Amino acid sequence: MNLTPGELARMQRLTAETRERIWRVIDDMAARGFDVYVGQTTRTVEEVAAAVAAGRASVGMKTDWHVLGRAADLRRRKPDGGVNFDQGPDSEPFWRALYETATSHGLRSLAYRADGSKLIIHGAKGPIWDSGHVEWREPYATLAEAAAAEQS
Ligand SMILES: [Zn+2]
Repeated sequence: MNLTPGELARMQRLTAETRERIWRVIDDMAARGFDVYVGQTTRTVEEVAAAVAAGRASVGMKTDWHVLGRAADLRRRKPDGGVNFDQGPDSEPFWRALYETATSHGLRSLAYRADGSKLIIHGAKGPIWDSGHVEWREPYATLAEAAAAEQS
């Protein structure tokens, strides 16, 4: 495991429970031969609006689990240290492993549905497969409920 200072700083901004689970995902993925890169963790509602406008988030979304410090966008680190954003067939084993590992630790993944099909969301510029997004929802059923409890 060799997170950069930037990744470690992003991990620190997550809630303790979320961070603990993402560390377990990183460990489990390493055991499976996958080096996980930690991309975005927290963001502001202004950044959510910018992502929606740019077609990188669901149309109409106003806030999300990142705003609450309960979500991270994970990718595969390449052997040269770069980040692999590929979502093609060559990267399928990574995304499947990430989904399995994240859900085994109680995180919600936006990569696949329970039936194994890809979970595609509607973005302003076309379909989005948010394959690296994981979020920690418990004990809340909905984002509104979590926001009401944690932002008060
Ligand atoms: Zn995300």
